[in-house]
Amino acid sequence: TTDIIAQYVFNCAGLSASAVAACMDGMPDACIPTIRYAKGNYYGYSGRNPFSRLIYPVPEPAGLGVHLTLDLNRQIRFGPDVEWIDTVDYTVAPGRARQFYGSIRRYWPGLPDGALRPDYAGIRPKIQAPAGTETDFLIQGIETHGIPGLVHLYGIESPGLTASLAIAEHALAVAGIRP
Ligand SMILES: Cc1cc2nc3c(=O)[nH]c(=O)nc-3n(C[C@H](O)[C@H](O)[C@H](O)COP(=O)(O)OP(=O)(O)OC[C@H]3O[C@@H](n4cnc5c(N)ncnc54)[C@H](O)[C@@H]3O)c2cc1C
Repeated sequence: TTDIIAQYVFNCAGLSASAVAACMDGMPDACIPTIRYAKGNYYGYSGRNPFSRLIYPVPEPAGLGVHLTLDLNRQIRFGPDVEWIDTVDYTVAPGRARQFYGSIRRYWPGLPDGALRPDYAGIRPKIQAPAGTETDFLIQGIETHGIPGLVHLYGIESPGLTASLAIAEHALAVAGIRP
């Protein structure tokens, strides 16, 4: 057991946010959402780059769609897809690239065969079931769980980074802190 003496506690543990909440004395189980893992795999392409801009196709259920990103060296990367998994595993399987060719060729028919290589993966902490309705971030304070000064941030997946300042502002308000 660890005792924490603090006026405010923000639980923003990403994939582990529900597990962290469940460790807290007095936290009602009924308020803790189940977090499911939706892995997003990326594949790299090291051939000549014909693009100068990012390309975003129409989003797919649970993800933004396999989009084209340029890194700071102007190298191309494609992803992420949506792969529901039960345990945290960041391995990118070479065989999954097959599905990427079809998605990418909808906006780049010239993608050569055999051009993709496994790059990296990230895992989204989803508070929706695989076939469930799209959910928003869940930012929970005293009005839900009854514990003063405690704020849980669940399901902070994309676009959590872009929205981080707005999320922080909202989390402060939920805690009752006025900046
Ligand atoms: C594939 C993918 C693509 C994405 N694309 C975009 C995008 O294009 N634009 C965008 O805005 N966002 C994107 N996101 C979402 C963005 O990455 C997240 O919203 C953001 O990282 C959430 O930040 P966070 O600090 O809430 O959680 P995290 O970044 O997950 O940080 C949680 C931290 O808590 C720590 N932690 C966990 N458990 C414990 C514990 N018990 N004790 C102590 N520390 C603990 C972890 O180590 C970690 O450092 C993407 C995410 C994925 C997976």
